[in-house]
Amino acid sequence: MSTLTTEDKKIIEDSIRDIPDFPKSGIVFKDITTILNNPEAFSTLMNHIERRYKSYNLDYVAGIDARGFIFGAILADRLNIGFVPIRKKGKLPYTTVSEKYTLEYGFDEVEVHIDAFPKEDARVLLIDDLIATGGTAKAAASLINKVGANCVEACFIAELDFLKGRDGIDADVYSVLHFD
Ligand code: AMP
Repeated sequence: MSTLTTEDKKIIEDSIRDIPDFPKSGIVFKDITTILNNPEAFSTLMNHIERRYKSYNLDYVAGIDARGFIFGAILADRLNIGFVPIRKKGKLPYTTVSEKYTLEYGFDEVEVHIDAFPKEDARVLLIDDLIATGGTAKAAASLINKVGANCVEACFIAELDFLKGRDGIDADVYSVLHFD
């Protein structure tokens, strides 16, 4: 298990940029592109996540479209395990299993390849940049379980605590940073 030092936490936290009223009025968008172009913050973050998960005996990291791909693919490579993309509907070429989830207005849908986790009873870490209402992550975790693998934990770089998104997820949840 790895704990984040106050100094390292500050390096990561300071590298996230708040964009008010994006994509619409009233939303404060947490922009993580300013972690990615900051080599000190990016490697501090990836080192922390790698340390946390190296003892979890994971078989795959599954990343949510699209920012989850960045952190997830790097982590999978560092842990020397496979990476699986969970994509928005219509992007994956082979046979898929899908899960709908509700948005503020209407619904969206995520998909995974039916054979994405070839190892039996695979232990999977789900990763995304941010958890807000938790709808996307809940659907993604349920997809992992639907195709026969086990979502052992969901990891986020940032969590909007006031939305209580973690409550609906059928797995342990870990967030590097918390915002009120
Ligand atoms: P949700 O399903 O409500 O938990 O939304 C999570 C997804 O929407 C993640 O893929 C995030 O990247 C994105 N998202 C939602 N709210 C924000 C926000 N305030 N800042 C940045 N990304 C967000």
